[in-house]
Amino acid sequence: MGEIPNNQQIIEQEHLYLAQTYKRAPFALMHGEGVRLFDADGKTYLDWVAGIAVNALGYGDPELTQAIKQGVTSGLIHVSNLYHTAPQVELARMLVESSFADRVFFTNSGTEANEGAIKFARKAAYEKGRPDKHQIVCFSGAFHGRTMGSLALTPREKYQQPFQPLMPGVVLAEFNDLDSAAAAIGDRTAAVIIEPVQGEGGIHVATDEFLRGLRDLCDRHDALLIFDEIQCGMGRTGTLWAYEHSGVSPDVLTAAKPLAGGLPIGAILMTEAVAAAMHPGEHGTTFAGGPLVTRAAQVVLKRVNQPGFLQNVREVGAYLVERLSEINSPLVKDVRGRGLMVGLELTIDAAAVIEAGYEHGLILVNAGPNVIRFVPPLIVEKKHVDELVDKLTAILAGMV
Ligand SMILES: *Cc1c(COP(=O)(O)O)cnc(C)c1O
Repeated sequence: MGEIPNNQQIIEQEHLYLAQTYKRAPFALMHGEGVRLFDADGKTYLDWVAGIAVNALGYGDPELTQAIKQGVTSGLIHVSNLYHTAPQVELARMLVESSFADRVFFTNSGTEANEGAIKFARKAAYEKGRPDKHQIVCFSGAFHGRTMGSLALTPREKYQQPFQPLMPGVVLAEFNDLDSAAAAIGDRTAAVIIEPVQGEGGIHVATDEFLRGLRDLCDRHDALLIFDEIQCGMGRTGTLWAYEHSGVSPDVLTAAKPLAGGLPIGAILMTEAVAAAMHPGEHGTTFAGGPLVTRAAQVVLKRVNQPGFLQNVREVGAYLVERLSEINSPLVKDVRGRGLMVGLELTIDAAAVIEAGYEHGLILVNAGPNVIRFVPPLIVEKKHVDELVDKLTAILAGMV
């Protein structure tokens, strides 16, 4: 290879060889440590993105690194789902014992988990002799993924319009509006899918009453309630699962982003009644739930699901909201969220602030045009919040 490339060299090659589907930041990341990232020119950044709510244990966690090393030295990086492996079974047991669920199906990503949830829901209705009961209800502001089924449940014109026709049978209702949900849910509803805290849509928390109302409507119409906790689950909001805040149990829950600490994984958690609708050969995947990723995920789940770990998420999350709310700037419109899933709504485009953040050594991401979304590694501390708020205050002061 010769010399180690710098930012500019890597970016030039990216422009030459990659499909241009991403608007990437003007640097290349080379190394990570705790909550900090280092680029190819040696610059350090404090990370408030965590690979978009993925790197729950931050970078270079010794226990996670060790588990992945062990997974590699076993020789079994991949095994088909035609064969049993201990790590997959063990992770499923841990997920079941830490949630409402009775059974688990593994996938490779979030969108695949939602695709699977759609199939399980439709199959459950089909098994009852109701192939006409195929509709899926979703909500304004939702993000469920980029594949054709999940995309059909993601009502953003820019994401959907060029790719029509999408999966039919989708009914849209207003988020946090129970009357709208009641009008959308009926006898032909197979399932209702909702993020208990919306991520991409701008960090919006579903109210407890709304989730309870959806549970009632689903029960009344024999429809499944699916919680998409791909972003808000696994400790992000200060409880292991976001639904715990409301006391409302779903029939199906999808998880992904942080589950294996950065390795690709997704999971569909479900009740026995849902699982019973699917039989051998009716759904499957080549890679998912392999021994390497499921071994890594055990480490993440074990660590996150400790009272002290979750308490840190709640405390630092509350401190983050408090400190962001203290920023005295006419550009700040709202601060909201739960745990370490926080949005700062601005009166201006978030892009300019994110660009300035890079200059100041901050990694930030938006959620919609005007919201900066904070979804850091869950190991972040109050001193990091102080560092963030100092820099952000200076950035915003320079923009009025
Ligand atoms: C990221 C995300 C997805 C899609 O996950 P991918 O792994 O990118 O396919 C689905 N739902 C929610 C809530 C997400 O945040």
